[in-house]
Amino acid sequence: MPFNLSTRRSFIAATGVAAAMPLLASCGGEVTAHKQRTYRVTKTDAQWRRQLTRSEYRILREAGTERAYSSPLDNEGRRGTFSCAGCDNPVYSSAHKYDSGTGWPSFWRPIDNGAVGTSTDYKIGYARTEVHCADCGGHLGHIFGDGPRPTGKRHCINGIAMNFTPA
Ligand SMILES: [Zn+2]
Repeated sequence: MPFNLSTRRSFIAATGVAAAMPLLASCGGEVTAHKQRTYRVTKTDAQWRRQLTRSEYRILREAGTERAYSSPLDNEGRRGTFSCAGCDNPVYSSAHKYDSGTGWPSFWRPIDNGAVGTSTDYKIGYARTEVHCADCGGHLGHIFGDGPRPTGKRHCINGIAMNFTPA
């Protein structure tokens, strides 16, 4: 869909303070859920609602975004593994975590190549790379191109979408 000025205006009006932040620094935006695809872990919407907390459901199943600096995992500095809060699939490792200063847990790569999947989302007017759990399709966050070496990638991940297990 072409970029549209009136859409952008209503987006800014709707998001208020968040719109004042540099868009690239944000995990925000809505993407379509991945319900149409088949994942190893498949549940009905009712099952997900029973299993997940309200905020986990909003992030993982509705591609919501937590407030910046709201997750304790942003400052989690111990060695360990970050797993999908929907299905326990290990998705990120402390070995690849860094402080991006954005207020969201940030990683320069997933724990392994098969841990996450990506799709393209245009919800805020330009293409962004959405990242989700490869096993259950749960939305995790977005990937941006301003990360550190060696990948240059910044996986901007919602802390609510993950559980941390210290090593
Ligand atoms: Zn998962």
